[in-house]
Amino acid sequence: MKKVSIVVPCYNEQEALPYFMNAITEISDGLESRGKKIEIIFINDGSTDQTMKLIKSYAQKDARVKYLSFSRNFGKESAMYAGFCWASGDYVAVMDADMQDPPSLLPQMIDILDHGEYDSVATRRVTRVGEPLIRSWCARQFYKLINHISDADIADGARDFRLMTRKMVDAIVSVSEYNRFSKGIFGWIGFRTCWLPYENVKRVAGETKWNFWKLFLYAIDGIINFSKVPLSLASWFGIGMTAFSFVMLVYLVVRKLMIDDPVSGWTSLICVIIFIGGIQLFCLGIMGQYIAKIYMETKRRPHYIIAENNIEKESRC
Ligand code: UDP
Ligand code: MG
Repeated sequence: MKKVSIVVPCYNEQEALPYFMNAITEISDGLESRGKKIEIIFINDGSTDQTMKLIKSYAQKDARVKYLSFSRNFGKESAMYAGFCWASGDYVAVMDADMQDPPSLLPQMIDILDHGEYDSVATRRVTRVGEPLIRSWCARQFYKLINHISDADIADGARDFRLMTRKMVDAIVSVSEYNRFSKGIFGWIGFRTCWLPYENVKRVAGETKWNFWKLFLYAIDGIINFSKVPLSLASWFGIGMTAFSFVMLVYLVVRKLMIDDPVSGWTSLICVIIFIGGIQLFCLGIMGQYIAKIYMETKRRPHYIIAENNIEKESRC
């Protein structure tokens, strides 16, 4: 009998959790009647509301409910990693607690994996209804850029919601880097992925934890984690400017020799100095970003710290 683990990161989800629990209980009952064993792992990512209380009450009523509770908020990436480390199923799903990842898709996803042709079933939003236009546009540009300059293969509109085989989850767990960008890691490890498109669903209750600025920083993080191209920008700027200055030098020398007209212009000089200074600082900043990542990586701190849990089996990480 195949076991399916459903990993659900939760951060202050007291409003949405009851809806989610209802839906996932119904789907789990259906799956069990079709011969699957179910394990639902809630990861309480340092919630400050009643989320943990709710999860514990579910665990008391339903033996399929397991939980890990972090000592503070470590972020969704750490919560997903913890879920993968502790899940013991043959198939492992990861989904949000706010019903934006419809639990009703799970049976179909399990059927696809059962056929054995694919190692994972991932979901992709085909519409971004209900999202600000500028956010959708930026998201699309981000996907274009990161696919172009890195070997992460990320579909536009890809959600984190996916179901994977044990083989694939083990591969994800083996990528134990501290700076995690799961969307990129899923693509980077390879394997055969079936994409399920679906219409965007609005959050059932509660509020999103992401604002535009946080998403922007997340996007920059993704690019830095998966691409070395920004690092080479400094070299390209340098080559371009050297070539330009050489042409200018020849021009000025010839001009001086031919018409003996020294170039005047304090304004243009200052503009050039500020321009070059700006580019130098920009490139230094990029290097700083990479160095900061190396710094965090070399400290080898744990991805998360667990305050309590009700899982008997040990973590794989
Ligand atoms: N989440 C989390 N830790 C965080 C932020 C979010 O575990 O620091 C969880 C959250 O509870 C939800 C999922 O990650 O289940 C997605 O979060 P959200 O709905 O805010 O993101 P959005 O769907 O708007 O991208
Ligand atoms: Mg959401």
